[in-house]
Amino acid sequence: MSPAQAIATAEKPRDGKFEVLRERGQREVFCGLTGIVWLHRKMQDAFFLVVGSRTCAHLLQSAAGVMIFAEPRFATAIIEERDLAGMADCHAELDRVVDRLLARRPEIRTLFLVGSCPSEVIKLDLGNAAQRIGARHMRNETGEGVRILAYSGSGIETTFTEGEDACLTALVPEMPVAAVDASQSLLLVGALPDIVEDQFLRLFAELGITNVGVLPSRRAGMLPAIGPNTRYLLAQPFLGETARALEDRGAVRIDAPFPFGAEGTAAWLSAAAAAFRIDEMHVNRVIAPGRERAKRALERYIPALKGKRITFLPDSQLEIPLARFLATELGMIPVEVGTPYLHRAHLAADLARLPENTRISEGQDVERQLDRVRADRPDLTVCGLGLANPLEAEGLATKWSIELVFSPVHGFDQAGDLAELFARPLRRRDVMRI
Ligand code: SF4
Repeated sequence: MSPAQAIATAEKPRDGKFEVLRERGQREVFCGLTGIVWLHRKMQDAFFLVVGSRTCAHLLQSAAGVMIFAEPRFATAIIEERDLAGMADCHAELDRVVDRLLARRPEIRTLFLVGSCPSEVIKLDLGNAAQRIGARHMRNETGEGVRILAYSGSGIETTFTEGEDACLTALVPEMPVAAVDASQSLLLVGALPDIVEDQFLRLFAELGITNVGVLPSRRAGMLPAIGPNTRYLLAQPFLGETARALEDRGAVRIDAPFPFGAEGTAAWLSAAAAAFRIDEMHVNRVIAPGRERAKRALERYIPALKGKRITFLPDSQLEIPLARFLATELGMIPVEVGTPYLHRAHLAADLARLPENTRISEGQDVERQLDRVRADRPDLTVCGLGLANPLEAEGLATKWSIELVFSPVHGFDQAGDLAELFARPLRRRDVMRI
């Protein structure tokens, strides 16, 4: 959290639709280490070694839980306070910790050294350390050995979901080069639960898109090739740096809204199909059953959610696509939609579908934002854990934004579950009032 003095500026609407309120004050968001919770489940032969403090270890253990029966695939190497003269020892100690870990866990194929906030860690050059240690554990042509990479999950540099962005950015240079004459391929970008990823891969296959890679891949040896014939489709809206790195390698982004709900998912799949010049009638035939299933699942939530006013405080960067889903598919009224960062290009399709009078804010000045929530008194406020209890105490219903990141919410078959996440706190509030 930064106690920086608040600066709020309103951007004049460039497209005549929205004014964006820009705030640069104190913020209440988890740091990027949180991403390890879902990334270590996704990448089945990766290990995340946080180089950090006891606070980092506590955060990870409380967010990810302590696994009693399985060997965990994350840990914290705690760097205690040292002066600069002690930094050489720090490097030697890190080398020893990594060597011991890799000797004990031969199944690890990718090791991430994850940086954090403490000043001792900032002084360590983890990128160099990864190269130095990686040279000793080099992968050979058959893929044996360990890939060692570094990224930062520090709360000074990253918010909640930016940890995944930093992790995937570190993976991009490791992707093999696609052959110049390779046929056009699709790259699905963003960590999704396996069950959701499998649903999408089945739909791409039915559409006729067969050359599909996924970033992050489940196993190190499955990292897809990339080149100018790669078209990439973002599954998550918080991957700005990853997108830039992919474009540096020649890949081209497919512009689409994010795949939430019946219409968001249909538009996302249709955009991919259009990039592969697939016949529109065939596309409609393939997506119709899922779209109908999703619509039917959503119908039962419309009576509870239609006309309800909702505010999102900036947290996960999922806020704008989720507000689009709630407004266009369930009839909710977004009052204020806050996001830590507003990537206008990646969010253009969702922004264009938001109701005209939606207040968009970027960044945070938490006290001012809470004042606006109190003045607006929305039916539901989506916010981080730390703000939920105080708002509930003031009689405002809340939803923890972290649940939206940890639950399977993308795609046709999760549309009903996604609506349920917003309906439940409203039901709870009604029950408490009786
Ligand atoms: S990285 Fe920084 S903000 Fe995150 S847990 Fe560690 S000390 Fe706290």
